[in-house]
Order: sequence, then C-alpha cells, then structure tokens
Amino acid sequence: MDCLFCKIIDNKLASKKIYEDDDNIAILDINPASPGHVLVIPKKHVENIFNVDNLDLRRTIEIVKLIAEKLKKELNTNNINIIVNNGRTAGQIVDHLHFHIVPRFENDKIDFRIPRYEMTQEQFDEIQKKLNINTNIEEKE
Ligand code: AMP
Ligand code: ZN
Repeated sequence: MDCLFCKIIDNKLASKKIYEDDDNIAILDINPASPGHVLVIPKKHVENIFNVDNLDLRRTIEIVKLIAEKLKKELNTNNINIIVNNGRTAGQIVDHLHFHIVPRFENDKIDFRIPRYEMTQEQFDEIQKKLNINTNIEEKE
C-alpha cells in the first residue's frame, strides 16, 4: 500500500517527530498553518473516522490532548484548533486518519470559521427528524 503516513511511521520517509508510542506518532506538518502545527497519527492504517476502532480512537484523542497541552505551554497560547478532515470534499488529502493541531496567535490571519447556511424552521425540523438517534422529539415540543 502506498501511504505517505505509513511510510513516515515505518521510518521509510523522514519527518520531524515530537512524540511516539506503540500506537501513535505526532509530527510537525511539513506545510504548517502556523508554527507548531502538529499532526497526530495512529500507527494502524485506517482511512478516516469511519474506519477507526473506538479503543484506538480513544488512545489517539488522548495523545491529541497531550500535544495540545504541550503546545499551550511551550508556545504560550490558550488558542488551538483541532481538526480532522474526512473525505475529499471535506479536504482530506492523505487517506490515513490524522488530527491537525493548530496553535493560534493574535492576528495570525488563519480563518477556519465555518460559513453559515440559512435554514427555515421546517428545514430544521426535517433534518432533526432525519438525524435523530435517541431523543423523543415529540415529547420535547
Ligand atoms: P489533510 O488535508 O487533512 O489530508 O492533511 C494532510 C496534511 O499532511 C497537510 O497539512 C500536509 O501539509 C501534511 N503533509 C503532507 N506531507 C507531509 C510530510 N511528508 N510530512 C509532514 N506533513 C505532511
Ligand atoms: Zn497509512
């Protein structure tokens, strides 16, 4: 399999590693949004959120938190974005699950804010019904 992050994990490709354990690595993004942009990558190859085992995901998110705390301390910022792109349309380029951790600084000109979409009450109700998993919608109204 020709996966960029698997090659980095296997040390077949150089990277700037800052953390490694049996299950995850964290590396500096080669094309950072800001200084200190880190990628946390599970060692087991899974394409994205739809393929990852829950226990593996739990381990990975704990490392995401560890790295976020390290960035907070060392880069002196309380402002951090954590992003996962799943699928091409969502901006995923490398098909191996990874968490972006992007430290933010005053006036850094980065804009991850989500553009908003106007919806009527009927459209809200329809999508709520479609997406409802376990709440009793009728009872709440
Ligand atoms: P995504 O769009 O979520 O798939 O992000 C892939 C990320 O991988 C991008 O932010 C790239 O800058 C980063 N990237 C690509 N190649 C490398 C590499 N060899 N080492 C570190 N980061 C990389
Ligand atoms: Zn891979």
